[in-house]
Amino acid sequence: MLIVGNGLVITLDAESKVIKDGAVVIEDGNIREVGDTAGIKERYPEAEFIDAQGKVIMPGMINAHMHLYSTFARGMALKDSPPRTFMQILERLWWKLDKTLEQEDVYISAMVPIIDCIRCGVTTILDHHASPMSVPGSLDLCAKAVLEAGIRASLAYEVSDRDGLEIRDQGIEENVRFIKRCQEEKSPFLHGMFGLHAQVTLSDETLRKCVEAAEGLDVGFHIHVAEGPEDVEDALNKSGMRVVERLDSFGILGPKTLAIHCVHINEAEMEILKARDTNVVHNPESNMGNAVGVAPVLEMMEKGVRVGLGTDGYTADMFESVKVANMLHKLAQKNPSAAWAEVPKMIFENNREIVRRLFGIKVGALEPGAAGDVIIVDYDPWTPLTSDNYYSHVLFGMSGGLVDTTIVAGRVLMRNRQLTTVDSERIHARSRELAGRVWIRF
Ligand SMILES: [Zn+2]
Repeated sequence: MLIVGNGLVITLDAESKVIKDGAVVIEDGNIREVGDTAGIKERYPEAEFIDAQGKVIMPGMINAHMHLYSTFARGMALKDSPPRTFMQILERLWWKLDKTLEQEDVYISAMVPIIDCIRCGVTTILDHHASPMSVPGSLDLCAKAVLEAGIRASLAYEVSDRDGLEIRDQGIEENVRFIKRCQEEKSPFLHGMFGLHAQVTLSDETLRKCVEAAEGLDVGFHIHVAEGPEDVEDALNKSGMRVVERLDSFGILGPKTLAIHCVHINEAEMEILKARDTNVVHNPESNMGNAVGVAPVLEMMEKGVRVGLGTDGYTADMFESVKVANMLHKLAQKNPSAAWAEVPKMIFENNREIVRRLFGIKVGALEPGAAGDVIIVDYDPWTPLTSDNYYSHVLFGMSGGLVDTTIVAGRVLMRNRQLTTVDSERIHARSRELAGRVWIRF
């Protein structure tokens, strides 16, 4: 049993309480009680005690769309001229980088950003993986990093036609195999989804094959949707339908499916997403960096579509994603009052609901029965922090770099900025060696 106490607790449960001198009790991986430190210490005198020293205690953050495999791109020079379009970014960077990844690259390139997640207080990620020259077993290598480090992850292999039918079939097989592994193991730390790259690289035959392969597995699809304008043009050329309509016609959408981005969708497509109860994931930094446009997430949420928040591999830090989402939609709407309600709903409510649908567990709230995923943030508010204004403190005052302690299921992964499960210096040194080789092969 573990108590994390003497802190300013932000519960993020239904009432979003703020408890001064608060504490959280974790037993067998789950939260048993949340309350005042003195009372809790009295009730559980034998429990191990982590003293938050007045810092903020809150639930671990969730990243609803991540690409662990993008690690070695940092600082890498492109060999072609700079991309002018989104398709050129894919062709000149990502579809070349993913082909260079060998088995150890997959493991190390997963472990590096997982370390970053722990340091930023991100305790659950939904990842989308690609390594076309090392498909079989690649999700196991990512899972090995996840389990060693101690976070929670949903993993999926992005099936695509772009590297030929043999590799496509390996991707399908990898998803099915890994989903079955997760369902057999029933680990609360691992989840398997059926990954699809994007409709632009998926033929009708492939989509049919994937839906067939996923039948009976009771999982959703994790797929990029209408990220760039080219995706829409391509869907119209292939099928006469827009992206969401084409995917819907194959039965890809549903309450466990993650439709990533949805930048270039119209009202009719929003209605379909709503009708299918499909989860959309917004990645503001990625959309801005790739210059693909502004996803109409406020409109979607107004219509009742569930929109979560991710980073698309741009960063591991969800505090950063919150800040960028906040500014992006104010600027896009030319309205400084825009997105005040929507961004906290994405990060704190919708991400939690998405994880509940996939893993069947409650994360992202400090309340009895929820997962024992807790972080301590070294933030000493210089104005009152209350249940009415905590979001403003999260937005303007906190960042991943201030996370001091990260706990998943009661297991301490970082304490006073010191990692306990992973030797980051060794992993980073190996990463630099492997990255050097990847850059030569790239
Ligand atoms: Zn992505």
